[in-house]
Amino acid sequence: MKEHNYTIPLNEALESDVSCFLCSLEDMLSARALEYYMGAAVMEPNVRIETNAKGFCRLHGEKMLSMQKKLPLMLALETRLDTLLSELGKHKKPVRGREKTCAVCERIEGQMDKALENCAWLLKNEPAFLEKYLESDGVCLHHFYALCEKLGRRDGALYEKLHAHMVKKLENLRGDITGFTRGFDYQTAPKENMGHIPPRAVETLTEKKG
Ligand SMILES: [Zn+2]
Ligand SMILES: [Zn+2]
Repeated sequence: MKEHNYTIPLNEALESDVSCFLCSLEDMLSARALEYYMGAAVMEPNVRIETNAKGFCRLHGEKMLSMQKKLPLMLALETRLDTLLSELGKHKKPVRGREKTCAVCERIEGQMDKALENCAWLLKNEPAFLEKYLESDGVCLHHFYALCEKLGRRDGALYEKLHAHMVKKLENLRGDITGFTRGFDYQTAPKENMGHIPPRAVETLTEKKG
């Protein structure tokens, strides 16, 4: 079997009981990216050139604060500010959009792009992986579209299988939500076996951020 960087984590994520195995892979990559930028890398000149240029978004800045990594964060933001101040000096006014870039977001996006390519390759070339996928709960809508883009439409038979799996998942979710709303008791908490339905609905239908 051809070796790919993300084959093992993809297989592991696919075996876990989650509503989207690509979201759970993304969670893992996100945690690793935060550890990376708030670890020894903050002292590496190449990494500082990158974080000085891109900075961090609010979500990832807040995650770093909650990790109690205040010193590495302040070191990174100290020199990030130098970049912004020098730009301000050059342009004599704020450069729009400079607060929107994020080194952590870009690292995760780059890694997820490769993981999606790898996932598409495995679905096309590894029957055991496809079988495991079809037996699992699959992916959220966002990752379904992202995966379809990587597959291309040339492999019609494979696309049809994945599409049918996604439709079935959404139909099941629709049924579960109806079960939840009908069984919802305003006096007490949701019925015991229904507590997982609202988070699953949100995870399946929305795009994960960070
Ligand atoms: Zn997902
Ligand atoms: Zn970010």
